[in-house]
Amino acid sequence: MRRPQEKEPEVRTTQDLRKSLNDSLEGDIRDFLINEAELHTYDDLTKVNPVTPSTVLKCLQARYSAKVFYTHAGCTLVALNPFQPIPHLYSLDVMREYHSAPQPQEFKPHIFIVAEEAYRNVQGQVEPMNQSLVVSGESGAGKTWTSRCLMKYYATVATSSQKCQDTVEKIERRVLDSNPVMEAFGNACTLRNSNSSRFGKYIQLQLNGSQLLVGASVQTYLLEKTRVAFQAPNERNFHIFYQMMKGATEKQRLEWMLPLEQDFAWLPHAEKTLEGKDCTSRICILKHESQFYEEFEELVLITVLSLSMLCAGFLQKTAYLLQVPLDELQSCLTVRTLRAGKQSVLKPCTQSECGVRRDCLAKVIYAQLFDWLVTFINNSMCADNPTWCNFIGLLDVYGFECFLLNNLEQLCINYANEKLQQHFVAHYLKAQQEEYVTEGLQWSFIRYQDNQGCLDLIEGSPSSIFSLLNEECRLNRASDAKQFRVRLQKELSDNASISWDKLSKEPHFTVAHYADKVSYQIEGMMEKNKDPVPPEIISLLQKSQDSLLHSLFADGDRESEGSRGHSKVVTVVSKFKNSLESLMKILHSTTPHYTRCIKPNPDCRPLTFKKEESCRFIVHGLVSESRFGLRSGYPHLSLTGPEMSDQAVLGSAVEDVLNVVFKRRAPNNNNNMVHCGRTKVFLTHSLLEMLEEHRNRVR
Ligand code: ADP
Ligand code: MG
Repeated sequence: MRRPQEKEPEVRTTQDLRKSLNDSLEGDIRDFLINEAELHTYDDLTKVNPVTPSTVLKCLQARYSAKVFYTHAGCTLVALNPFQPIPHLYSLDVMREYHSAPQPQEFKPHIFIVAEEAYRNVQGQVEPMNQSLVVSGESGAGKTWTSRCLMKYYATVATSSQKCQDTVEKIERRVLDSNPVMEAFGNACTLRNSNSSRFGKYIQLQLNGSQLLVGASVQTYLLEKTRVAFQAPNERNFHIFYQMMKGATEKQRLEWMLPLEQDFAWLPHAEKTLEGKDCTSRICILKHESQFYEEFEELVLITVLSLSMLCAGFLQKTAYLLQVPLDELQSCLTVRTLRAGKQSVLKPCTQSECGVRRDCLAKVIYAQLFDWLVTFINNSMCADNPTWCNFIGLLDVYGFECFLLNNLEQLCINYANEKLQQHFVAHYLKAQQEEYVTEGLQWSFIRYQDNQGCLDLIEGSPSSIFSLLNEECRLNRASDAKQFRVRLQKELSDNASISWDKLSKEPHFTVAHYADKVSYQIEGMMEKNKDPVPPEIISLLQKSQDSLLHSLFADGDRESEGSRGHSKVVTVVSKFKNSLESLMKILHSTTPHYTRCIKPNPDCRPLTFKKEESCRFIVHGLVSESRFGLRSGYPHLSLTGPEMSDQAVLGSAVEDVLNVVFKRRAPNNNNNMVHCGRTKVFLTHSLLEMLEEHRNRVR
């Protein structure tokens, strides 16, 4: 997003310019320093001078203390999470104000500026152009909140003022309704966020020729289905389980054979409440306010009840709810069928194998039902093809993750973030290129942080982490983490983005991501990539008398261990890579807008800014985003006078300044450290750093 240039006193002549430049340097070197008292007034981080991690953080902190939650960083919007409702900031009136303003970008930074810009862009001056709003940030930073806010914005402004349009009204409701439903099934309470999305999503809001919202569709990515069967200490299962347990009436409790709460060891921390609302009221909201609820009650029942019974060890009840024969359920969980040619041998499972099978059954049902839910929601929201012509896409995916232990899930998530970063850089460069052309500069000198090396390491061919993981899966041998590490080392050591801690006992590898280095454990990674489902489980579910469950598994399209010999195994990373590639294709075909959400403290405490902890990953990125186009001008110096279009004169004036600073030892400009445009002076990072160093010495 281009910010309007602020009017500064104009410099009339070259002499004035020289004097002004010299005054600012000789008069007081502190002019280089940012004025801390005014930091909170900087509504764009590119205006902070110099742009360093510490000045960026100081500025954001000052704004946060002044309860200003949005700041521009060049074409990115930074959103700080207040962790407390700020109702006046998002009211209908405010939405309408931004919507009706001739120049909304002149208003205070706000997510509605981004929303409105995308909305206006859709129509396009030349031809309509689809838009994407990419929201990123770590868990709990406010991505989902921001997406919801954007959806509300469009459901408000992209609707007809004549309320006779029945269908449109219905669509807004359905689009907004889809949120709590998907969150009930896909969100959970984690250590980082009490309402953490455990899946990524891309929602396309479809607009007709009159810019009215006529439908929507949603695409989801990588649901964390392991959570159904396993929750890390102090984390919870998906919300829906608790909501059903708490929300059931006594009659339903009997009818559904729900055990008492204390029997549910697999539903930990049921006592926790979510944003002040307990589960009972949440399910009531779902029931009464959501148009979806009735239609998927069956889904809720099967998933929640059968899985709860299964995990709690109530085999008979599970068989009843899944509508499968009890003896078959039992044998499918306890006996393995080994096939050798036409012969098959039955082998009893060990206790731990039985546990793995039970968890697998729970996961496979939940994942299929979640997909079914997404399809259901899509069918009810999607406009018929001819009625919509353009879309605004909202992307809410998990942010960069670096835990104590990282495995395949984090690798996929961080890979997705690398892809988005690459997309961002490509887009940013394009915008910069355009600015340089306007400024009359040669384009070739810009260098930027390219993450292609890291992407090659993860997904490239012929050899990459993904390709080696897949090969391991194809070979179908018992996975050995140590051996795999040796292979990685042998095949990938040429890539500078991978490293190894030789002292570490557990086999692992470390990837230098654009945001930070992350160490991944190899143990379990190959098995997770295979994600095997015993064929007995699939055939059991195919026998279900329940029509929904039966239909989910009827066509047997899910890869299972048994089919491995005949068909290609689709691994987790291949599937993820494919779905991400189609997402990137869509993103590339749209005009992107970036919002970076920041979590100001790790404990989600209201209005608390902890500098050292917040923004670990993000500040690094913001600094380069704000600096990206190199620095545009020194403070207190206007280079925007219309007379200053003589680049040569400007160039020699700047040289004088550098001579003053470096006591006649100005760095050689042959190194392309300074570039004078028509209205701006661009400095390279290294020159900026030299100036900063100089400033620190003078201080
Ligand atoms: P993420 O999706 O990035 O993991 P969420 O969007 O779920 O994070 O945000 C976490 C919590 O922070 C929300 O449940 C909400 O309480 C709070 N929050 C986020 N953004 C805002 C905001 N702009 N105003 C008020 N509260 C917010
Ligand atoms: Mg979220």
